[in-house]
Amino acid sequence: MISPTEARDRAFYSPNSETLDPDEIRIIACGTGMPTPRPAQAAACFLMELGNGDKFIFDIGDGSVERLFALQIPTAFLDKVFIGHLHGDHFGDIGSLFVAGGIAGRFTPLRIWGPSGSTPELGTAAAIDAMEKMFAWDLAGRLGQTDVRGFTTEVTEFDYRLEQVVFEENGVVIRSFPAIHAIDGSVSYSLEWNGLKIVFGSDTFPNKWYIENAKGADLAIHESFITVPDMMRLYRSTPEAALQVGTQIHTAPEAFGKVMSMVKPRHAVAYHFWKDHDTTGPALEAIRTTYDGPLSLAEDYMVWNVTKDEIRVRMTIIDHHTGNPPLAYEAEPVNAEQRVGYSPEIVAGKLDMRDVLEPIYEQASEALGREFAYPDE
Ligand SMILES: [Zn+2]
Ligand SMILES: [Zn+2]
Repeated sequence: MISPTEARDRAFYSPNSETLDPDEIRIIACGTGMPTPRPAQAAACFLMELGNGDKFIFDIGDGSVERLFALQIPTAFLDKVFIGHLHGDHFGDIGSLFVAGGIAGRFTPLRIWGPSGSTPELGTAAAIDAMEKMFAWDLAGRLGQTDVRGFTTEVTEFDYRLEQVVFEENGVVIRSFPAIHAIDGSVSYSLEWNGLKIVFGSDTFPNKWYIENAKGADLAIHESFITVPDMMRLYRSTPEAALQVGTQIHTAPEAFGKVMSMVKPRHAVAYHFWKDHDTTGPALEAIRTTYDGPLSLAEDYMVWNVTKDEIRVRMTIIDHHTGNPPLAYEAEPVNAEQRVGYSPEIVAGKLDMRDVLEPIYEQASEALGREFAYPDE
């Protein structure tokens, strides 16, 4: 008998509404799309939340940080990013996570793992060094205004050619292994914890390392690129470019299916195509020519709850009007002496607003029960 008043089980995931079980991994797609932006899909990004409290971000493509923030997770917990390769659609939002994460409560360095390149300037360390230089003005402008302890990075660049452990903490082991994509310097990752294994393929042509490392995976995430006809129709590629990029640089859906038939994961996840009413059918049909196992065609905000007993797939329903997530740690008081300040020429242009701004300080002092002095001119 269905009750007219009692709530029933929800078929969706709402952020900050479910306690993660100690033996569970929750994976949320925060970007599943293509290298060019669209409102429906950010570029590659998968968040993995473990029952031990650890959280890991795999790829941080353009637009994905908005999705991460929609999940309302304190940014102090979003401090570990594993980059599979340095295409913009796989790491283009690293600057947003660096800055916005630092503003919103990450008071420790942003920890970044990524592959070397065939030359030092093509590696992750050089890319992140350049990113930090790009934000020189941003950081200078925040000194003495907010807590800026999070505006640093800790980069671990590793050899893209090796199959190796790149992270081992709290019972979590993350391995990297080579991928084949565009030029040398792409990798994929596996995460193992608590007897569960999640594999994340950044972009790649089908390769032997993925097959070997994804064996026994509970969730095997791998690109399945937009079909060649849809690449010409929607992505405006020439036939030559669509065939080259869609089948030789990436994994075509038929090839994705062949890969998954070799891996035989508990559940396969296909991403990296525009998922629409008229593209999903052809993508699925192509995959089903070569793979008939359990499958998700990923889209942004899809969520997988993985335990030894069950893999539950749902969509996340998000609030579009969120504030910042709560602070996990207390912010340090700002040190006004750190402020860079203005030159006399610029400060001379300030209008006198003291009569309208000083009352804001008085109201805050009264509301919060301590004295906030209006700054001296
Ligand atoms: Zn790529
Ligand atoms: Zn890509």
